[in-house]
Amino acid sequence: MKIKNVVVIGSGTMGSGIAAHLCNANIPVTLLDLKTEISEKARDRIYKSKPPLLLDKSKINNINIGNIKDDFDTVKDADWIVEAVVERIDIKHDIYDKIFKNRKKGAIVSSNTSSIPIKVLSQKLTEEEKKDFCITHFFNPVRYMGLLEIVKNENNDLEKINYLKKFCETELGKGAIICNDTPGFLGNRVGVYAMQIAMTEAFKMKLSVEEADSIFGRPMGIPKTGVFGLYDLIGIDLMADVLKSFIKELPESDKFHLVAKEIPLVKKLIETGYTGRKGKGGFYRINKTDGKKVMEALNLETGEYFPSKKININSEKIDIKNLINRNDKYGEYAWSVISKIISYASSLVPGITKEFNDIDEAMRLGFNWTKGPFEMLEEIGVSNFFSKFDDFKDNKFLENLEKNKNEKFYGERQKYTDIETLGKVKKNAIKIDGNDSAEIYRFKDYNIVEFTTKANALDYNSMDALKKATDKPLIIINESMQFSAGVNLSYTMDFASKGDFKSIEKFIRYFQETCKHLKYSDHPVISAPSGLTLGGGFEVMVHSNFVASHTNIVIGLVETIVGLIPAGGGCKEMLSRWINTKEAKQDPEYAPLKVFDIIGYGKTATSPVEAEPMKYLRPEDKKVMNRNSLLEVSKKILDSNKDFKAPSETKFKLPGKAVKDKMIKILEKLYNDKMILDHGMIVGKELANVLSGGDTNINKTLSEENLFKLELDSFMSLMETKETQNRIKHTLATGKPLIN
Ligand code: NAD
Repeated sequence: MKIKNVVVIGSGTMGSGIAAHLCNANIPVTLLDLKTEISEKARDRIYKSKPPLLLDKSKINNINIGNIKDDFDTVKDADWIVEAVVERIDIKHDIYDKIFKNRKKGAIVSSNTSSIPIKVLSQKLTEEEKKDFCITHFFNPVRYMGLLEIVKNENNDLEKINYLKKFCETELGKGAIICNDTPGFLGNRVGVYAMQIAMTEAFKMKLSVEEADSIFGRPMGIPKTGVFGLYDLIGIDLMADVLKSFIKELPESDKFHLVAKEIPLVKKLIETGYTGRKGKGGFYRINKTDGKKVMEALNLETGEYFPSKKININSEKIDIKNLINRNDKYGEYAWSVISKIISYASSLVPGITKEFNDIDEAMRLGFNWTKGPFEMLEEIGVSNFFSKFDDFKDNKFLENLEKNKNEKFYGERQKYTDIETLGKVKKNAIKIDGNDSAEIYRFKDYNIVEFTTKANALDYNSMDALKKATDKPLIIINESMQFSAGVNLSYTMDFASKGDFKSIEKFIRYFQETCKHLKYSDHPVISAPSGLTLGGGFEVMVHSNFVASHTNIVIGLVETIVGLIPAGGGCKEMLSRWINTKEAKQDPEYAPLKVFDIIGYGKTATSPVEAEPMKYLRPEDKKVMNRNSLLEVSKKILDSNKDFKAPSETKFKLPGKAVKDKMIKILEKLYNDKMILDHGMIVGKELANVLSGGDTNINKTLSEENLFKLELDSFMSLMETKETQNRIKHTLATGKPLIN
């Protein structure tokens, strides 16, 4: 069989997300709900979603809509029917009855349920029908969350399930993990337990919400929303429902019950409409005082809001070992939370899955953790763990491990997929020359550089690693959420606040030198971006000879927003891409004006489809749905470029003053319309100077070095202004732009 046509029933949060993602994979899909108006609204929601659920908004009408009365015939042509209606068994049973009466023979039917066991869902199905029925549990938002849990029943046609798994991997890009029919499957069972333990321990140890989130967050390799922030994001009321369902389903002996007890303060929040971001507020809220927006946090003891405090635990890096060894309340909290998560997760093996490392992968793909519980245990060290922990009665996994003390218990990673992922390959690689900002892995015929800083922000060390690694073909790739959010602004600001502009200049020069090196070294360089690929991150990518890009990227040159201009060759490379167009060959002002518009506004693209028209990506760059496949695709590029020769240098003929005057006219109009203010004008003029080629004319030829020099000079003159520094400081403190 082949999946060529899908019907999704239920057009709520999940159904619409699944339909949108099938549309991303160019699979014809029909979205049905009780009424056509409901699915129509769902389609509007998809269109307006932020971050966007669609790779290409213009494809929105490829999602057909309808209702389950008049349009149920569409089910007859579907190869896969996904049920995503409300979590009510009576409604689901009715729908299955209708689907199985209408589906074509052999079509797959699956449910997106998060809590109803497959045994119960398939109660009323015949043995023949059960062959084609399973659970496909997607995570929200479907485009962005990597995890798909598939639950089989004992009658399944295994060939079909394996085909579905493969389809979801390759076409939808999901990490598809097959798991047992147990409450919450893998991700939610462990993820919700982890949230509950993080919350209850914070109450017990009298930590503030900001303190708890600063530990159960970045230092543990967990997204920075932490626990309380995540509660607000999901909805405090929804979390209460999730807990009720776990309490109902799990046996009393399950340790989940210990952390799922109703907390009076949480109950009160829900009752008074403080349900999180969608409600009046939650553990955090934005409050307006004196016309100013202030972030406030809830005091867990008094239930009152106070201006939120930034907690600095002096640890930017994910470092679990050091974290649990701290001699303070943060260390105590971290150990208590981590040890209990490890203990709970391991107690579930083999009940929820026989492969313990699938739990780690589920946490990575479904909750964006950097490490799952078993990898945390591996990092802590088996002996070290047991020297502090003895509460593991009836936990077979820990009992065994305590006996054999096998420090190498972990073995392979990512067993759920046949793809040769970075995660698998890294485990067996030799690490050479790593530093604080990047690791270099060496293989027989190629190197890998993986950035390792927060959001993979770049500094001198990142450049150093890249430069060192070009002695072989190089793949720049990583497992964390972002390829790179750009140059580390705090790093440059630290120098600026000391007045040490020499060091900034040295860094930018080294950045340029490294980018040039990436482009022209004897061996091919491949970037495999996913997530944020901004500013300096984009400049690293754009100087690579080849690109294999994940379809979930946010890409662009955003420097002007912080009062700077791209100076790692971003202006140069964008000019070089636009100069090669048909239009530019006829009109020498075409390329500089186009690039001025793109960089001036700091435009970003949220998918390769949006990136290509701006030339942030090229048609020949590979676009890959499954992030896990980036390494395989990159290696294929290497294999087919064995006789690689570095490109020849680009020469530029730019119009100079003629086009610069036009750019300044554009700026003046923006200024008069109050779209930009004084400093915006200054930044714009510097950009105009670089993109026009500076003091040149159309008959002169400029080299890449000339353009690097223009970029550097403009960058440095802007960096030295108070206004740019204010912009940077503001963005660092608030994450938002300052308009000055
Ligand atoms: P939702 O409430 O957003 O949407 C449910 C949709 O089903 C509504 O549009 C409703 O009109 C429609 N519906 C109800 N009865 C119907 C019927 N008889 N025929 C056709 N449509 C009908 O719900 P949701 O959050 O999208 O959840 C859907 C399923 O996915 C549930 O089983 C839920 O447990 C599961 N799930 C939800 C999430 C999540 O984060 N929301 C995550 C994973 C799984």
